[in-house]
Amino acid sequence: MSVATIGIQGQCAHCGCTCVLEAWQLNAIAINESFACTHCHKALQLIDPKQIKRFKSLDSLAMLRASTLVMVCTAVLVALVMEWIGMLSVVEQVNFSLVAILVYFLVIQFARHRQHLTLILEAAKAHAD
Ligand SMILES: [Zn+2]
Repeated sequence: MSVATIGIQGQCAHCGCTCVLEAWQLNAIAINESFACTHCHKALQLIDPKQIKRFKSLDSLAMLRASTLVMVCTAVLVALVMEWIGMLSVVEQVNFSLVAILVYFLVIQFARHRQHLTLILEAAKAHAD
């Protein structure tokens, strides 16, 4: 499980408790399998398509964070090289780097905000097979 999916909560349809989902429960959701509630141990499943969509979107958030980090590191390196070869002054380089780092933190904030979700879990349907 990627780091981005840590801290997701799930609300149990049986006992109504809201628990932080563990890695194995998130794995079960990812492969559309039922799993037991940590509190009452009854079978749960993520069935609502809207909820599934929100869950799936977490992967792209992880991608966004990773690619932003690469972009910011590249930008800071380029600024350093430009200062070194004399295309930027020290002040310009520092300003440029600060802006790049600021953008990074804004993206992280955004991702963290979006990641803060509680999945409404439903009672697992009995398997036909
Ligand atoms: Zn429960």
